[in-house]
Amino acid sequence: LEKNVEEFIPRENLILRDVLGEGEFGSVYKAIYQTKEGYEEEVAVKTLHDQNRTKNKDQFLKEVKVMVGLNHHCIVRLIGLSSGPELLMVQELAPLGSMLVYILKHQNNISVSDLKLWAWQIACGMQYLAKQKRVHRDLAARNILLASRNQAKVSDFGLSRRCDDRDYYTASQGGRWPIKWYAPESYNLARFTSASDVWSYGVTLWEMFSYGQQPYGEMRGQDAIDLVEKGERLERPDNCPIEVYQTMERCWHYHERDRPTFDQLVETFTDTTYINVHELVT
Ligand code: ATP
Repeated sequence: LEKNVEEFIPRENLILRDVLGEGEFGSVYKAIYQTKEGYEEEVAVKTLHDQNRTKNKDQFLKEVKVMVGLNHHCIVRLIGLSSGPELLMVQELAPLGSMLVYILKHQNNISVSDLKLWAWQIACGMQYLAKQKRVHRDLAARNILLASRNQAKVSDFGLSRRCDDRDYYTASQGGRWPIKWYAPESYNLARFTSASDVWSYGVTLWEMFSYGQQPYGEMRGQDAIDLVEKGERLERPDNCPIEVYQTMERCWHYHERDRPTFDQLVETFTDTTYINVHELVT
């Protein structure tokens, strides 16, 4: 694997600082990376605490493998891997952290235009991912990071797979299933495609425009499934623009073929009647 990652980082070139958050396998730290060229860069370092458990290690390395070779400004970049004795994953730092936490904290200070800009950027990252024939499988507001007020990035490829991965169509090997973000074919048939990522994208939009509410509230996963199977969907959040809610509804078409693609979603959010993205970015 070391050969696969572009950069194998000597442990002594990393200085771990504050804890940024807790991941599934270990803490995530802010760190200083002293590069070969001799300058210092702030990075995020994911650790794997319990290395004896091979399953965790495999999962951790799977995430690394999926991220290798991805290069897009709307996707959190993998910088390298380091070991000795702990296995460390070095990623680009997104200084504002999780978008979900940020939205909850700054509710009164986030406009619909901010949300639309992030929605557009998430769609751009996902369009790139789909082009690379990769499926995310865990697209949710908690897995979007903010590099700045003007830059959202897709992250957390822990559940992601290459499309040709064989366990892709088989049922999950246990673990958490983010059911409320899953398309019908995912919870029924364990089928994951870019079209099921589009469904999750719709749920992510709903979380954003409801300013961080939990989809389907306290409802149990099975009850949320029943609701969707009956043809019901999440309701329009207060103050969510009609056209954004219509986009969500299109993402939640029961049949994959009826949902928009990420290409179309990028266009939707670039449409000048919908949003003047260029005005916002510059
Ligand atoms: P889970 O699957 O339970 O979400 P995980 O093991 O995949 O956990 P992450 O969600 O990627 O871990 O990371 C946990 C937290 O650490 C995030 O919510 C975020 O606050 C922080 N974090 C992770 N990566 C970065 C990063 N590149 N820049 C800044 N903060 C980060």
